[in-house]
Amino acid sequence: MFTIGCHLSASEGFLSMAKTSLAIGGNTFQYFSRNPRGSKARPLDRDDIDRFNAFSAENGIEKILCHAPYTMNACSSDPGLRDLAKEMMADDLSRLSYIPGAMYNFHPGSHTGQGIETGINEIADVLNTVLTADINTPVLLETMAGKGSEVGSRFEEIALIIEKTDLCDKLGVCLDTCHVSDAGYDISADLDGVLDEFDRIIGLERLYAVHLNDSMNPVGAHKDRHQKIGEGTLGKETFEKIINNKRLRGLPFFLETPNELDGYANEIKLLKSLRLED
Ligand code: FE
Ligand code: FE
Ligand code: ZN
Repeated sequence: MFTIGCHLSASEGFLSMAKTSLAIGGNTFQYFSRNPRGSKARPLDRDDIDRFNAFSAENGIEKILCHAPYTMNACSSDPGLRDLAKEMMADDLSRLSYIPGAMYNFHPGSHTGQGIETGINEIADVLNTVLTADINTPVLLETMAGKGSEVGSRFEEIALIIEKTDLCDKLGVCLDTCHVSDAGYDISADLDGVLDEFDRIIGLERLYAVHLNDSMNPVGAHKDRHQKIGEGTLGKETFEKIINNKRLRGLPFFLETPNELDGYANEIKLLKSLRLED
């Protein structure tokens, strides 16, 4: 089973996103929990969600990924923003309780001058406040490019956040191919070496999802500029290796490339053509 989809606009609701994903050749999708620049969430439409759940079961839509807003920062030097991160994450997770099989992804945060160690402790504090035993939605830490004061560009940092979180069995990781390359992990030259390192430091059993993005910049650039598949420094062959790698191929893959729907449809078609049979 090749689980592939792209980032979609959430404005039309869940059923609409599922139909759009199918129409462009996908069987999953990612969406923002709320406006990436604001903090207000759309009202919860239970009818839409019921229809979405039924439609997904019928049409094989699975493992959708809800992405927290970029503005959410669990390790800001501003305690008000850290409180807001707790509120947003708790609210997002309570909404996701109506969507079985969904996962939640967030950027660990930017320490805004406080230092990596303080950042890691504050992110763990947010998770220790928000995570409760009744939450069934996996919460994924996204690997970051290391732009500015971003936490989570080194596997060691992600591992420490997990270690400091009490209910760490709720946590997983989303590997972003542009971000890991920008962070200095050379997945083009040595994908298996990078996966070995991930396994040694975090554990591959924690890897729940992959963001497929080519990068505009070379390995270690710490920039975070996504490029279309095959048009960046990673190249088509790297993505062919990623989607077929025996340790990755069972995971859901999400495109976050600079595309409109027709561009995403073409990329999904390309990736399907590169995917080897099960
Ligand atoms: Fe992201
Ligand atoms: Fe990403
Ligand atoms: Zn990015």
